[in-house]
Amino acid sequence: MTVNANLCALHGSYLFSETAARVAAFSQENPGKTLLRLGIGDVTLPVADAVVRALCAAAEEMGRPDGVHGYAPTAGYPFAIEAVRNGYYAPMGVDVAAEDIFISDGAKPDTAGAQELLSPGAVVAVCDPVYPVYADSNAMAGRRVVYLPCRAKDGFAPPLPRERVDAVYLCSPNNPTGMALSRDALAAWVDYARREDVLLLFDAAYSAYVAARDTPRSLFQIPGAQEVGVEFGSLSKSAGFTGLRCGWTVVPSANRWGLRRLWARRMATKTNGVAYPVQRAAEAALSPEGLAQSQQSVRYYQENARLLGEALRRSGYVVFGGADAPYLWVRCPEGLDGWGWFDRLLRQAQIVCTPGEGFGRCGAGYVRFCAFGRRDEIREAAERLGMNA
Ligand code: PLP
Repeated sequence: MTVNANLCALHGSYLFSETAARVAAFSQENPGKTLLRLGIGDVTLPVADAVVRALCAAAEEMGRPDGVHGYAPTAGYPFAIEAVRNGYYAPMGVDVAAEDIFISDGAKPDTAGAQELLSPGAVVAVCDPVYPVYADSNAMAGRRVVYLPCRAKDGFAPPLPRERVDAVYLCSPNNPTGMALSRDALAAWVDYARREDVLLLFDAAYSAYVAARDTPRSLFQIPGAQEVGVEFGSLSKSAGFTGLRCGWTVVPSANRWGLRRLWARRMATKTNGVAYPVQRAAEAALSPEGLAQSQQSVRYYQENARLLGEALRRSGYVVFGGADAPYLWVRCPEGLDGWGWFDRLLRQAQIVCTPGEGFGRCGAGYVRFCAFGRRDEIREAAERLGMNA
C-alpha cells in the first residue's frame, strides 16, 4: 500500500496546535489567570428562536409515522433551495435558478471539494494570507498552488495572477484580513476570468457582515459572473450554524464549462444530503423572522469588532478589517512578529489571538483578532489592549 505522498507533504496544522500548546502552557503556569480568547473564529451567541422552533418541530415530525424523512435529495430539499433563492439572493437583486443551488453541510467541505471539478494538472491561485482549506485541499490532490501576495498598500486586495492559472479562490469579506473586495475589484476579477478562461471560486461565508452599501455580498452581483463563477454560502457565521452545519454552493447553468452538471454528478456520488431537521432550520434561518433575529447577532459581533478596532487604533496600532467582517487584522508593534506579539499579549494581557504567519508568508508581522466573543470579554480585551499591551 502506498500512502498519498501529497498528504504526507502537508505541514501539520501547526498554527492552531501551536497556539493551543502555548495557551495550555501559560494556563498551567498561571492557574488563576482568566484568558480572553479572540483566536478561533467560532460563534458564541445562541441560534435564533425561529431556528430552534423549526429544528424541534422537524425532529418531532420525524418521530411520527407520517413524518418519516429518509435520505434527503442530494441537492437539498426544494424548500431549503427556495429559502436560499428568496431569503438570501433575492434581497440582493440576484436571480439564481433553483437547479443551480446545492444545499450542503457547509462552505468548508464544499470549498475543499470544489477542486474535484479541476483536472489533476490544473494550477490554482489563492490569496496570501489565506483560509488554509483552499490551498491544502489542492495540495492534497497534488496540484500546484500559486500565491497572490495581498499587501496593506492595496487594502489586502489580491493582485491578478502574473502567470497562467486555471482557477482562483476569492474570499470576501476575507478571512483572515477582514477586508471586503469592492465592486470595481470584483468586476476586474470577472473581466479577467472571462478573458483568460479562468474559474472563480468565491467564498461568501462572511457576506452577512458587509456593512458598506455598495460592497457586493455575492459574486453574482457582478454582470457576467454566472459564466465563470461558483459561489459558496454558509449559515455558520450569519445564523450561528457552526454546530448545525448548513451551507450551499451555486454552480450556475450559465457556467461556460458546464460545471453545474458535473457538480450534480459529484454530489450524487459523495453525499446523501443534509439532515432534514437541519434543512428545516436553514429554511427558518432564511425566513423574514429568522433573518431579523440572526441579524441581531451579526450586529452584536459587528459592534464587538468596532469596540476592539477603536481600542486598538486609540493605542496607535494599524488596524485593517472589522468594518465588513468579524475579523481585525492588526500590524504587530515594532520589533515583534506575529508569534512574538501573540506571546506578549498572552503573558501581559491574557489575550489569545492568532499569529498572521499561520495564514501564509504575507501574514507575517500581523495578528488576527476575532470579534465573536461575549460583550463583557470584548470590553475587557478592549480595555487591556488600550493599555498598550
Ligand atoms: N470559509 C471561510 C473563509 C471560513 O473562515 C470558514 C470558517 O471559519 C468557513 C468557510 C467554514 O464555513 P462552514 O462552517 O460553512 O463550513
